[in-house]
Amino acid sequence: MIVSIPQCVESDGIGAALMPVVCAWCRAPLGAKVCSPAMAGKVSHGMCEACSERLMRGMRPIAGDGRTAR
Ligand SMILES: [Zn+2]
Repeated sequence: MIVSIPQCVESDGIGAALMPVVCAWCRAPLGAKVCSPAMAGKVSHGMCEACSERLMRGMRPIAGDGRTAR
C-alpha cells in the first residue's frame, strides 16, 4: 500500500506538478508554480510585498497600520 502526502497537486497529461510558494520571511502563501514531478512535495520560497518593502526600508519592522511617511 502506497501512502502519499497530497502536498503537491499533479496536473494530468503534461507530467508537471504544482509546488506551493511561500514567503521565506513571514511564510505568507504566495500561490504556486509549476515544477517537475521530481520536485513534488517541496516548497518554493519567495518574498511577499510586505517583506520586500520592509527590506527596502532597511529591515525596519512594519508598524501595523501601513502608514507611509512622506
Ligand atoms: Zn513576507
